[in-house]
Amino acid sequence: MGSSECHIAVLAFPFTTHAAPLLSLVEQLSAALPSARFSFFNNHDSNSTLFGGRNPAAGKVKAYDVWDGTVAGEALVTHEEFIMAMPGNYQTAIAEAEAEMGTKFGCFLTDSFLWFGGDLAAERGGVPWISFWTAGACSISAHLYTDFVRSLVAATPNANGNGLEHKLKVIPGMSEVSIGEMPGEILAKDLQAPFPGMIYNMALKLPSANALVLNSFQKLEPTVTDDLRSKLQVFNIGPMILQPATPKPPISDDHNCIPWLDSPLPASAAVYLSFGSGITPPPAEIVGLAEALEAKRAPFLWSLKPHGVKHLPEGFVERTKEFGKIVSWAPQVQVLSHPGVGAFVTHCGWNSTLEAISFGVCMICRPFYGDQKINTRFVESVWEIGVKVEGGIFTKDGTMKALNVVLDSDRGKLLKQNVVKLKGEALEAVKPNGSSTKDFQELVHLLNDSF
Ligand code: UDP
Repeated sequence: MGSSECHIAVLAFPFTTHAAPLLSLVEQLSAALPSARFSFFNNHDSNSTLFGGRNPAAGKVKAYDVWDGTVAGEALVTHEEFIMAMPGNYQTAIAEAEAEMGTKFGCFLTDSFLWFGGDLAAERGGVPWISFWTAGACSISAHLYTDFVRSLVAATPNANGNGLEHKLKVIPGMSEVSIGEMPGEILAKDLQAPFPGMIYNMALKLPSANALVLNSFQKLEPTVTDDLRSKLQVFNIGPMILQPATPKPPISDDHNCIPWLDSPLPASAAVYLSFGSGITPPPAEIVGLAEALEAKRAPFLWSLKPHGVKHLPEGFVERTKEFGKIVSWAPQVQVLSHPGVGAFVTHCGWNSTLEAISFGVCMICRPFYGDQKINTRFVESVWEIGVKVEGGIFTKDGTMKALNVVLDSDRGKLLKQNVVKLKGEALEAVKPNGSSTKDFQELVHLLNDSF
């Protein structure tokens, strides 16, 4: 086992909920690797949010800002600008950090999106490259089948898109998933466009990583994970939110959501609604959701940004104030762990999905993009812990049906049993002898041995 100080370059992807779980992993590794120092490369805005007023891992993590790809003084408009500046923006910041440290980085830990981690590691004499996929095994496995799925689509005689219904029975663990539910980038018309290009490069380069770290757990996606393990070394260390060793960011409940859930509510189970860090449903769907909530009269807590609130039906807030609360941001982990919550209306982002599983809450899913459709399919058909909203978009009737299934039906009881069982397996995985704890320890060994 090595004992010299090792400098690890951590390359974060700044958008949606990518950088926060990576920083959590860094903090957990820092506690297990006393001789490691971490340099965290990310854009300025995301670094400010993550590090503002905090000193993670007692000063062993230092944040470096990478260039946004924008003209000086102008605000970042699209994620594409940032992607188009890659990998040069990271290379510049890394070179500056190395000059400041007087030594080269001895390891690269990157968000999987940052496909060039292996090239940076190779340029430094083949130091380890660890890739961190912030979502589930199902979606990263899907990406590794990009060429195969595209060849299936190309071979589909029906050009009007019906072939998208075709289930991917030949891919291990994906028999319930249709081609149309694969992450959108896999089916992109132009694989050279910035975002699909980044994702395609990831699929091509990832098998050469020394290891892939997943925020999932073995019993959640066993077939898919075993298939992944046949291609590269996988450490399945989640749910990180349940890992006792993962430092938890401070809870802020500026809108008093938890006291509201604690107060006596008119019915037993409350509905929590949130669509992650970046999504606000289209105006017509906000209206459909609101009408369903008002008709159902179940207590609800809705995390909705002000630009979404303005599309609520006139008088809705006043008419529902006895049983509903709308906030611009909720402490989701604490909300989902509250016993009063009976259903989670979600976009099925991976963090949200795993948080619902970790706290045993059934989901009503309205996926938008990325991995959300495949996550939804697993929720509805593989794990059977929730339902997809009828037609894939919120209408009053479709949302009412979904609420009735989850809150008030025999099917809902079965879904609840299933999610509680998965929660139990998640808790087992993070116990001292659990599969995720063991995988984390093996990751630490791999890093220690390479110093
Ligand atoms: N979240 C939260 N409060 C909110 C909305 C979201 O704390 O009001 C958190 C949630 O707990 C999760 C993250 O934001 O950890 C959303 O991550 P996810 O992967 O589900 O979606 P993304 O933001 O990547 O679309």
